[in-house]
Amino acid sequence: KAKTAGRNSYQFYESQMQEMAGLRLAQSNALKTAIEHNELHLVYQPQVCLEQQRVIGVEALLRWDSQSWGSVPPCDFIPLAEASGMILSIGEWVLDSALARLRSWLDQGLPPVAMAVNISAIQFEHPGFTEQISQLLQRHQVPPHLLELELTEAMAMKKPDFSEQRIRHLHAMGVKLSIDDFGTGYSSLSYLKRFKIDKLKIDREFIADMDNDAGDQAIVTAIIQMARRLSITVLAEGVESARQAELLKRFGCSQIQGYYYSKPLPPEEAARYIVGYNPQA
Ligand code: C2E
Ligand code: MG
Ligand code: MG
Ligand code: MG
Repeated sequence: KAKTAGRNSYQFYESQMQEMAGLRLAQSNALKTAIEHNELHLVYQPQVCLEQQRVIGVEALLRWDSQSWGSVPPCDFIPLAEASGMILSIGEWVLDSALARLRSWLDQGLPPVAMAVNISAIQFEHPGFTEQISQLLQRHQVPPHLLELELTEAMAMKKPDFSEQRIRHLHAMGVKLSIDDFGTGYSSLSYLKRFKIDKLKIDREFIADMDNDAGDQAIVTAIIQMARRLSITVLAEGVESARQAELLKRFGCSQIQGYYYSKPLPPEEAARYIVGYNPQA
């Protein structure tokens, strides 16, 4: 009897797996036409400087509103786009749209803010990447120092020699580089000295329980102190409460991003938020 039950649950598991694989395949196919069907858009999450109490940047976050499945979260569709190589065209669309948006904000007279864009390993490693960045900055007439590329530790460390060169090239162009989800990778810290990184974004995993968890607090303060000694800007991700913001300010963290200030916003709301938080501009 136990055997039958085992077999049944195995078959159930197997059919579920097949269903999931089917869904992924269907979504992967639908993603191919997402750009032409206008199913992609960007939302923008403010990044606030604690010292000056003003918005110094926004992070562009991709959304897919699929005709078949409604809104599909990036943690589901980004891996599909990466596996199929579509991330190259999607990533270019993201960069193009984010820079066009920043240009229109500058034209409207908004105070200049940095535009942070997430970059996949496949994009970063693509031979034409730096040239693409330079052409897009040119096309949209955006000052390079307002573009911030978010890489991950694992990405930068996969081919350290290549990354060092590429980062140096991007730096020479004036573009800023940050390390996203900092602290969750397994890489050595030596690359921080070697690569010219402008910003570390402390992963929200360490921020979430910081008020109660002494271990998380130790990690956060250590990252902040190390970054300061290396003259790297440090931003805390996923800040949801006044208490967290207060602690981070006391620890010397310079920038904050999270629901406590704002969720990712559609462009018009983001523009209003930027103006509202920079009253002197
Ligand atoms: P990420 O780059 O680490 O982005 C931060 C994520 O945390 C976003 O999720 C954001 O909405 C969420 N978040 C922000 N503040 C809070 C908070 O206070 N609490 C909580 N619980 N969450 C918060 P989202 O938009 O779902 O994006 C997930 C991931 O998808 C991003 O993580 C990034 O790795 C990836 N992604 C998003 N857009 C793009 C893109 O254009 N290209 C690439 N390659 N990846 C992207
Ligand atoms: Mg990011
Ligand atoms: Mg992150
Ligand atoms: Mg993350």
